[in-house]
Amino acid sequence: MATFDIRTFGCQMNVHDSERLEEVLRRAGHARVEAGEPDVVLLNTCSIREKAEQKLRSEVGKLAVRKRERPDMLIVVAGCLAQQEGEKLMKRLPAIDLMIGPDNIPELPDLLADALLGGPPAVRTIFDVDAPRFLTAPHAVAGQPTAYVTTMKGCNERCTYCIVPYTRGPERYRDSQAIVDEIRVLVETGVREVTLLGQTVNSYQDPADRLVLAPEADPEDPDESAFAALVREILTAVPDLWRLRYTSPHPRHLTPSLIAAHRDLAPRLVQHIHLPVQSGSDRMLKRMLRRYRRAEYVDRLAKLREAVPGITVSTDIIVGFSGETDEDFEATLSLVEEVGHTGVFGFKYSPRPFTPALKMGDDVPEEVKSERLSRLFALSERLIGEHLKALVGTRQQVLVEGPSKARPENMSGRSARNEIVHIPDASDLALSHRMVEVEIVEAYKHSLLGRLTEASRNEAESAAPAVQPGKRRLNVVAS
Ligand code: SF4
Repeated sequence: MATFDIRTFGCQMNVHDSERLEEVLRRAGHARVEAGEPDVVLLNTCSIREKAEQKLRSEVGKLAVRKRERPDMLIVVAGCLAQQEGEKLMKRLPAIDLMIGPDNIPELPDLLADALLGGPPAVRTIFDVDAPRFLTAPHAVAGQPTAYVTTMKGCNERCTYCIVPYTRGPERYRDSQAIVDEIRVLVETGVREVTLLGQTVNSYQDPADRLVLAPEADPEDPDESAFAALVREILTAVPDLWRLRYTSPHPRHLTPSLIAAHRDLAPRLVQHIHLPVQSGSDRMLKRMLRRYRRAEYVDRLAKLREAVPGITVSTDIIVGFSGETDEDFEATLSLVEEVGHTGVFGFKYSPRPFTPALKMGDDVPEEVKSERLSRLFALSERLIGEHLKALVGTRQQVLVEGPSKARPENMSGRSARNEIVHIPDASDLALSHRMVEVEIVEAYKHSLLGRLTEASRNEAESAAPAVQPGKRRLNVVAS
């Protein structure tokens, strides 16, 4: 038996994979270190941005120093960078003992057993295309009233800037019954809100073809999928699931059937969508091969807003993509203003290996990218500020997750529209994992302050503590 630690870089998908890495190691008899130095350090990597390898180099460099004093310590690199670089990376960073791709997590215990017996360095990065495996981990690992559930892996899109199809492979879908069963078990252990995960989550197809397509779905429409039917199935089969979210959808799969599902299933299907747009310029969208035009993005959102008034929209944007002119960037700003995004995750374009955009060149100077990103963030801050201020005086339903990180004397949670809400004078109440009603009394820069309504306070004072699973044990390094 060995002790291990996991350090996670990158997106939510990687955080989720780290839970699976932890679970397969626990089942093999290994233990996560609570204190002291582990026998095995796992670095679960991301390769979406350029800095990923630099971060990994820096981590491995520090660990290599320790390894000189403790040669039996093992360094394992998992995730997208392992998939992308394989043996080449191991040659560049010889302190690494083992590399595994995202699809090879189930093989980790055997590979690790060899390495612990002194076996040679190994690389395993094979996609499980013929028989896809979807691992689960008990929710006690995450310890929240919220949980993530995988619906699919890989991506069939070919956005020219993106390395994901290379590092995660083609789309493979999880059996719909397995998804429903996992959510049912999560709810039995106290989870109240689930986020469905997938690279293009709303292109989901049911491999067993069990789901009945919604009447709004046009089977001839290439953008249609079984995702709306999946969402309906989950919320019907698991009535005690209070909220369902999903991330990240592709705009072209925001189809009439999914919009109808939002209309029929709100508020349990939450009033928020994170819909990556990447650019507001049709010229850029074409160069990025996003397969929709600006007008289509706006039009689909308008239909969604008609179906679910007040739904909030956040997005991802790349600035400084190959060939982006001032005019293209202005189009992006105008789109963000027009849509009124209440959250913008902006990134400077950086060329990634093995992507079609490499051939297009990286011709926007770094200082121009920085300036555009600052302007985008300034706009985004203004829009978020206006949105949050407009909520002061309203009543919101908040799913309380626990003490606030910044101010532990406050409890905090999220509204159905995804705003973070802090609740003061409530730390003596067993609010965690409960849905409470608050009146919003103040807007901060990125969050809200809400006081319990009298009815909610009375209810909380007389209630027994809600079910609370175990504590989070993952060590997450933000990218
Ligand atoms: S949809 Fe495009 S950006 Fe998203 S994972 Fe697929 S290729 Fe990458």
